[in-house]
Amino acid sequence: MSEEEQPRSAIDDRLLVDREHCWHAFTQMAEYEPLLVDRAEGVWLYDHQGRALLDGISSMWCNVHGHRHPKIDAAIRGQLDRVAHVTSLGMSNSTTIELTRRLVEVTPQGLDCIFYSSDGSSAVEVALKMAFQYWRQRAEPEPERSLFLAVGNAYHGDTLGSVSVGGVSRFHAMFDPLLFDVLRGPCPDTYRLPEGVRAEDACQHYLDQYEDLLNRFSGRIAALVVEPLVQGAAGLVMHPAQFLSGLRKLTREHGVLLIADEIAVGMGRTGKLWACEWEQVEPDFLCTGKGLSGGYLPVAATLTTREVWNAFLGDYAESKSFFHGHTFGGNPLGCAASLATLDLFEEEQTLQNVLRQGAYLEECLADLREHRHVGDVRCRGLVAAVELVENQHSQRGYEWSQRRGHLACQAAMERGVWLRPLGNVIVIMPPLCCTAEHIDQIVAAVKFGVSQACGD
Ligand SMILES: *Cc1c(COP(=O)(O)O)cnc(C)c1O
Repeated sequence: MSEEEQPRSAIDDRLLVDREHCWHAFTQMAEYEPLLVDRAEGVWLYDHQGRALLDGISSMWCNVHGHRHPKIDAAIRGQLDRVAHVTSLGMSNSTTIELTRRLVEVTPQGLDCIFYSSDGSSAVEVALKMAFQYWRQRAEPEPERSLFLAVGNAYHGDTLGSVSVGGVSRFHAMFDPLLFDVLRGPCPDTYRLPEGVRAEDACQHYLDQYEDLLNRFSGRIAALVVEPLVQGAAGLVMHPAQFLSGLRKLTREHGVLLIADEIAVGMGRTGKLWACEWEQVEPDFLCTGKGLSGGYLPVAATLTTREVWNAFLGDYAESKSFFHGHTFGGNPLGCAASLATLDLFEEEQTLQNVLRQGAYLEECLADLREHRHVGDVRCRGLVAAVELVENQHSQRGYEWSQRRGHLACQAAMERGVWLRPLGNVIVIMPPLCCTAEHIDQIVAAVKFGVSQACGD
């Protein structure tokens, strides 16, 4: 720590430690200015000076029912009085079992078996390894199925396996030599369509390319991994309707497993509990994290079918076990938070609120489309993206180094709203419990941010 002559206050001391010693995620530490949040309630974050900020991104897309919800707080406290941690290596506890029962009930048909971890990246990693091992151990093995088919610009987490199936080059290119090879289809973007493709033909256009890959690598693909409906970190890219169900049909025809990464879009974000429900899709794997615990604690889960589970059964000596585990996977504190979170969906009619406020948000953002530096405004449930462009007609984005999205979000903070962009895309993902009043404030701050970053 640096030497200083002046005595510092405790708070200055913390700010200094934060800047000099605490390495923040996806953050340029040379420029980082500490922002301390020591308290929150509902949709509000309070910084160390008592300033209130509306949490416009749900604490990194994960908060569901607001911060410090009394029911979730009480569930965690109740669990603390029983036990905080039980390993899942050879033992269990009632809270984790109860969450398992509930998740099997509320997820799409066929997802009857659950493997817990503590973060989304691990939940994807688990699905990949399980799918790979499944083909080697099933009754009629197909060990030549060792490839994964992934979607262009996908994001599935930051561990090496999940980065391998990811495709956001600005994050991932550096690690290329460490990654395994993946087949990659196009990013099914509805804003930037391939040349000559009309919006109404986009879905079939993209699906044709996936079908082509499935044909060319027939019998060699273990699984296809996709973020249903909305590709989060790609910049909230929204897929054409029926793309997901089209992929399900194609993967079934080709005997390929389908992994749905619902870490961002699941737990109500799009207005149904799972994004897959919009197109009646039953995947072979469903990964959930982020909002699973209401955004409170690290809990993630990989759900799969009895068919996959069965391939791992056998005598101990056959070594068919899934040799994978995380110390805190399925931890009871997190599971207690998750159970309370699921209860609240019913008690507070959360999905109805997502649909209502989502529609209102879309309506309020509509006139931003007229702004000459707004290329696109796209919405799905309580996910909205305002994409800034240099040129509306050519859809050319600002050079990323200009940080226009960042400038817009910084300005929004002056209007009391906390947002974090993805490049040129202003991300709006408030907690699912937000009201019309909160939406009004967010939209006003976004409009102010756009005018500050790009002019009127
Ligand atoms: C956030 C995210 C992940 C990774 O989850 P972590 O908990 O950050 O490891 C994976 N997939 C998607 C779609 C995500 O949005």
